[in-house]
Amino acid sequence: MTELPTLRESLEQHGLMAKKAFGQHFLLDLNITRKIVRLGGPFDGDTVIEVGPGPGGLTRALLESEAAHVIAVEKDSRFLELLGELNEVFGDRFEVIEGDALKVDEAQLLADRKLSPQAHIVSNLPYNVGTPLLIKWLTGPWRPKSLTLMFQLEVALRVVAPVGDDDYGRLSVISQILCDASKIMDLPARAFTPPPRVDSAVVRLIPKADRPAPAVIKNLEKVTAAAFGQRRKMLRSSLKSLGGEVLLDKAAIDATLRAEQVGPDGFLRLATALS
Ligand code: SAM
Repeated sequence: MTELPTLRESLEQHGLMAKKAFGQHFLLDLNITRKIVRLGGPFDGDTVIEVGPGPGGLTRALLESEAAHVIAVEKDSRFLELLGELNEVFGDRFEVIEGDALKVDEAQLLADRKLSPQAHIVSNLPYNVGTPLLIKWLTGPWRPKSLTLMFQLEVALRVVAPVGDDDYGRLSVISQILCDASKIMDLPARAFTPPPRVDSAVVRLIPKADRPAPAVIKNLEKVTAAAFGQRRKMLRSSLKSLGGEVLLDKAAIDATLRAEQVGPDGFLRLATALS
């Protein structure tokens, strides 16, 4: 088996430096990437789609796991040659695709390769597109088997925040209605090369089996946008354009509450009532 150079050596050999525009902050310590994969798994016999492999630290850890296939989507073409070297060690279990993860149709990607439509997402996310990517995977037509995602700490806290918490908001409601979500690891900024300005955390999300209908998910986006857009106001005022007290009455929610006082179940009732 070919011996791989260290990640630092790989970057040097290919003359690669991190680019700010692509949100590049690399994990070059394989002990850390192996831990993320261990906590995010098991991936036994499954396909993992990795977004933004960069120099491939997380990719290597995924390929060392029991995952049957790893498909990596990278926007920065400079990394394709370096990542292609992984095939010399891991053969056709690994494939790298140049593309923008926001535009990738995961169901099609898997169908084209005759792979099961069930696959996991693992990513040390580019911070500038972390939230839109999460919303795409949560509310889009393709449902991942699990998501293991590195976010800036502030976003990770919003995903898992309980009702009443300062961080509780749209992202908490949507994530927690559609998934079981937990923060599984904290990472200081110094763990990355170059270090970002803020600390990070890994969140693991497992989509729930009883997913609401697509129309209810759309309504959920509307209701949470209106309610948290004016989070200090009472719901009878912030939800006025969506039906105000009539809607709140239908969903059995006290009209004098504020958005941050209503749990995910309450928002689900509001989204269901808004037909
Ligand atoms: N996974 C690597 C690691 O942990 O060292 C790199 C993580 S770095 C924070 C984010 C990676 O995502 C970069 O490689 C960047 O080029 C890539 N990227 C940025 N935007 C992307 C997009 N829209 N689609 C796919 N990859 C993207």
